[in-house]
Amino acid sequence: MSGMISQLQASRPTDLDAALALLAEAGDPWRPLAGGTDLLVEAQHGRLQHRRFLDLSGLQGSLGGLRWHADGTLEVGALCTYLQLQRDARVQAEYPALCAMARLVGAAQIQARGTLAGNIENASPAADVAPVLLALGARVRLQSAARGVREVALDDYWTGYRQTVRGQDELIVAVLVPPQPFGPHAQWSRKVGTRSWQAITKVGIAARIGWAEGRIVEARIVAVSMAATPCRVAAIEQALLGCSGEEPDLAARIATAQQSALRPLDDVRSTAAYRATVFGRLVLQAVCETKGAAGDAGKGGSAA
Ligand SMILES: Cc1cc2nc3c(=O)[nH]c(=O)nc-3n(C[C@H](O)[C@H](O)[C@H](O)COP(=O)(O)OP(=O)(O)OC[C@H]3O[C@@H](n4cnc5c(N)ncnc54)[C@H](O)[C@@H]3O)c2cc1C
Repeated sequence: MSGMISQLQASRPTDLDAALALLAEAGDPWRPLAGGTDLLVEAQHGRLQHRRFLDLSGLQGSLGGLRWHADGTLEVGALCTYLQLQRDARVQAEYPALCAMARLVGAAQIQARGTLAGNIENASPAADVAPVLLALGARVRLQSAARGVREVALDDYWTGYRQTVRGQDELIVAVLVPPQPFGPHAQWSRKVGTRSWQAITKVGIAARIGWAEGRIVEARIVAVSMAATPCRVAAIEQALLGCSGEEPDLAARIATAQQSALRPLDDVRSTAAYRATVFGRLVLQAVCETKGAAGDAGKGGSAA
């Protein structure tokens, strides 16, 4: 064991350019380390292939905290933790689904260390907060020494099971969450696990459902722990457009759309049949509850 540890190398730059220069080095790649709550689990299970670790904790100045842009966009620094996010009063008011899900990640210790960027880059199909960011239309800002800054919509970020578009020389520097066209009432998320707390999600949903004149005018429906990555279900989104939520065959329409678009995972956590049934119900619940919450805004057609 001591031989193995002596082969490991860690660096803790205090300047973003120095961090990017390390990532650009040829040879053994550097693996970014933020809160370490996923990386250390990999290490414990003997799955860590990297030998060089880039400790980001010295970069609080450039990657920490939250910022608000003049147009209302929320910029979440790559080192922002779940705890920091859920304590921000404006985030609570404008992005309630994000805060609600941040409060359900692990326990207090994990929320104090784990970052939203780490959740995105870990690319787990059962991640909890990253799917909410997808439903809210977030973008990931990446930076490298050679290519500078680029932004990728979360819709395009995960390319397969635990795979992302991030280049080895790139760092996530921030996550950008746009202002929400239908306000806080349109946001809805749920995780279903073996317990209400401290459980890995068996089936989950993150949704943004916009209402006007009592009808659905926008639907972003993200399935969690249903496929290799969290993913939007375009067939369900289409099926919901124009619905009032009171159609007698709405559950059947959702089920048909779901069957055409998704073949749910069937694994140790749950069967495909259970996931399919529960996910359909979660979509229905999201429709009913966002309609109720939209209230007069939904009836009158104003997008708050
Ligand atoms: C006990 C326990 C309970 C948990 N419960 C939940 C839960 O309920 N829901 C849930 O979704 N997750 C859960 N997790 C997983 C984990 O806490 C989250 O995914 C967390 O957000 C990871 O963030 P981190 O900062 O710790 O990432 P790290 O472990 O530091 O890194 C995770 C991955 O992201 C990469 N990375 C990190 N930051 C950057 C960056 N800025 N740029 C590029 N790459 C980066 C790392 O190289 C690594 O591949 C749990 C973990 C544990 C140990």
